[in-house]
Amino acid sequence: MKSVILIAPPAAGKGTQSKLLCDLYNFEHISTGDLLRSELKKDSEIGKSIKEIMETGKLVNDEIIISLLINKLNFLVCNGYILDGFPRNLEQAIAYDKMLKNNGQSIDYVIHLVLSKEEAKKRIVGRISCPNCGSIYNDLIKDSNPLLTNFCDKCGTSLVKRDDDNEETFDVRFDTYVEETSPLINYYNNLGKLYEVDSSLGKMEIFNQITSIIGDQI
Ligand code: ADP
Repeated sequence: MKSVILIAPPAAGKGTQSKLLCDLYNFEHISTGDLLRSELKKDSEIGKSIKEIMETGKLVNDEIIISLLINKLNFLVCNGYILDGFPRNLEQAIAYDKMLKNNGQSIDYVIHLVLSKEEAKKRIVGRISCPNCGSIYNDLIKDSNPLLTNFCDKCGTSLVKRDDDNEETFDVRFDTYVEETSPLINYYNNLGKLYEVDSSLGKMEIFNQITSIIGDQI
């Protein structure tokens, strides 16, 4: 089973690229942010315990994340998967490496989507997504508008804005990324797994660059 990790600041297009790549390679999309949001929606014990921290934009406890991920991976039947939003710090990366080693697996590609804070902020303000199929749009970026204002092109569901897509939470999310997640870039570079892609490009250009890295050997 192939595994691809996307490392990127908020709004660099991890979700959008994950969806495109999963469609092409028939992979499963695993977003730890989505797993957490689904716990919030269910109002589960985990949901209750993470609500506050998610609203501030800081990281949820590693144990919670790792147990949600193990649970998801245990039930996975597919060619491969894209990890979107995990690992988010060195502890998670090390725990994930151990988990793979125990199963005789290894990471195939780590794609770093590079984006400046200014550009990321601009994208966050207009971001809207489909709560049904996960498609992502941006009402401030012309080639990312939905065809019909506020409705999903794919399934017609009303689009929603994430609670944490506001300016204040964005600043914390971006700073948390720089402090906690960016050390992973060196970590995976040293393992010879890292590939960089300029995320200020259009979504199809980014997609083409990623597919030229992964290739069609899947
Ligand atoms: P973004 O990358 O745009 O910040 P995500 O959907 O990946 O959005 O994450 C939303 C929030 O969920 C994060 O701000 C954080 O609180 C929490 N989260 C997601 N993934 C992780 C993770 N691997 N470890 C800790 N917290 C996480």
